[in-house]
Amino acid sequence: MDAARKLGVDAIKAVDVPDRLAEAWTDAFAVRFADVEAAAQAIVDHARAQPFDAILSVDDSASFVAARASERLGLPHNSPQAAAAARNKHLMRTLLRQGGVQVPDFRRFYTSDDPREVAAQVSFPCVIKPLDLNGSRGVMRADDADQLGAAIKRLSKLLHSIDPAADPKPFLVEDFIPGFEVALEGLLDGGRLKVLALFDKPDPLDGPFFEETIYVTPSRLPDDTQQAIFRCTADSARALGLRDGPIHAELRVNAQGAWLVEIAGRSIGGLCAETLRFARSADVSLEELILRQALGLEIDSFEREPIAGGVMMIPIPAEGLLRGVSGIADAKAVPGVEDVVITAKLNYPIVPLPEGASYLGFIFARGETPAQVEAALRAAHARLHFDIQPIISLQLVA
Ligand code: ADP
Repeated sequence: MDAARKLGVDAIKAVDVPDRLAEAWTDAFAVRFADVEAAAQAIVDHARAQPFDAILSVDDSASFVAARASERLGLPHNSPQAAAAARNKHLMRTLLRQGGVQVPDFRRFYTSDDPREVAAQVSFPCVIKPLDLNGSRGVMRADDADQLGAAIKRLSKLLHSIDPAADPKPFLVEDFIPGFEVALEGLLDGGRLKVLALFDKPDPLDGPFFEETIYVTPSRLPDDTQQAIFRCTADSARALGLRDGPIHAELRVNAQGAWLVEIAGRSIGGLCAETLRFARSADVSLEELILRQALGLEIDSFEREPIAGGVMMIPIPAEGLLRGVSGIADAKAVPGVEDVVITAKLNYPIVPLPEGASYLGFIFARGETPAQVEAALRAAHARLHFDIQPIISLQLVA
């Protein structure tokens, strides 16, 4: 909304709220994202009174609705299948394989399957994951049948806690892809990929859980490796039918080349977009670029600002009640650190991966080089202290 204001663009928010709360939203119109056709129809109806030039989704849950509404209004759009794939990891792998993209061996199972039979059908090490969660929630590595059995049990418990209906829940098991990981932020224009930023993830992500921490850009990888990453991302986007607008992709890289872990037709999540500023003047946000492209406005430069930038998603170290956070001022005083934002609420329970679904907060840094940015993020994190107390649950026995 800030970017729209800056450009003098009229932007209308569509929010996902239950009907009974719809009236409380005076600055937005309410639709139910889960009911894709009805939500798309509501947007189409709205467009009769007030035509739109573009419909943008800001997360995966809205991308299906945006694609369907754009399709009906004749606006450029991604294939609705691409939006479905962003919310179903089995569909994504299937479409990637059909599109000729290198994928690990994968297989879908159900929580009702016998874990020994599951183990007999996969190779180790493997990764087990739910089809439709995000933020690495429920994603676990298993090196043998025993570990896989334990992981299935743990995932099953998590999935049934999210959806208590008794029906079996699907999950995916795929080969573990060794190597290091990167994230790519890009814009598609009629199927052509413009890379906006490639982030290195300097902390190894080898399991058993896969917690995001540091992202630093520009990448320190050699040019030919970066080119392989760009090609794999473009091929993956094509395979899924992603054609227009922002994309965010996660890839792993090893001797066999670049492997797509995930790609979605939206920009980077959470507060991480704060890391990116464009043009020499560094006063163009990622959201401004996305809006300019969607509206066909002039874009002077797709170049990121000349200095390095990074973010640390502060992981949750232990389960408990977050009682206090100290050292924020000290962390902010580390040279290069621009901000420390704690998003977790005090006195609320916090849950680490693989069950948890959030971070404690974010640290942002900029510097001359990626190495300086990484060092600043680590130094700031070391100055933070989180007081997490165990949750004592009382069982009353009559
Ligand atoms: P989510 O949508 O929850 O982020 P992903 O499928 O992207 O789920 O997986 C989360 C993280 O788990 C990835 O960023 C990566 O670090 C790790 N991961 C997922 N699949 C694999 C795999 N096949 N091999 C190695 N690591 C993986």
